[in-house]
Amino acid sequence: MALASPLLRYRGFVLDIDGVLLRGRTPLPGAAAALAALRQLGPVVLLTNNSTKSRRGAASRLRELGLPVEAEELVPSSYVAARYLREEHGPVRFWYLGEEGIAEEMALAGHGPVPPEEADWLVVGMDRGLTYAKLAQALGALLRGARLLATNRDPTYPTEDGLVPGGGAVVGALEGMGFPPEVVVGKPSPIAFRAALAALGVRPEEALMIGDRLETDIAGAQGVGMDTAFVLTGISTLADVERTGIRPTWVATDLVALVGGEVLRRG
Ligand SMILES: [Mg+2]
Repeated sequence: MALASPLLRYRGFVLDIDGVLLRGRTPLPGAAAALAALRQLGPVVLLTNNSTKSRRGAASRLRELGLPVEAEELVPSSYVAARYLREEHGPVRFWYLGEEGIAEEMALAGHGPVPPEEADWLVVGMDRGLTYAKLAQALGALLRGARLLATNRDPTYPTEDGLVPGGGAVVGALEGMGFPPEVVVGKPSPIAFRAALAALGVRPEEALMIGDRLETDIAGAQGVGMDTAFVLTGISTLADVERTGIRPTWVATDLVALVGGEVLRRG
């Protein structure tokens, strides 16, 4: 695959996953080769709001689906949350509504799991095992003064069978009880992009964000001073660029075209 001039100026790449590399459980055509070509230009990380898996878990899922990636190349919101709490508050005592990704990354960062009534922080993400009893425990923790961190507030999550409730559904349940999150670390939060840049070891102006959602991937990356490439294989469309006024640095039909230098236009 020819390496394109528009990308030669960058020293690191941050990619969204759903709508850029995958659709559902299926890699987009040429995604693995495009990823390999990008790595020739600089380090790559995959930044996802999905909190259900850890870096290691997310990497092994992608490998199963046919995308060869290393755990160090994954920056899921479970990892972003654990890293943020460690940097801002040191080791914390936590309880969570979510899946094993949160538990694993929080433990790796040195945070201590405790019963809800002893938690200083409640960490929340998409939870396919959510029950009324768990919501009641979360309410108990919040009433006792636990602080609320949301890994993301994506309303829905795309699967092969269509959309399912996302992290935002869990956050919304807590908001409905009167407890909005104190902090949301997932895209479009700058916290997510700073974690990705730290993983790359490059400055914002040296990095390119490649994503399919204007309001999260593109606007969020612009907020921390990154250049952006918008691909048309996911949620947002060219018409949305006009509608939202969010103008990416580059626009390409897909990742393969972008890496091959077939840029539709400068945004
Ligand atoms: Mg996406």
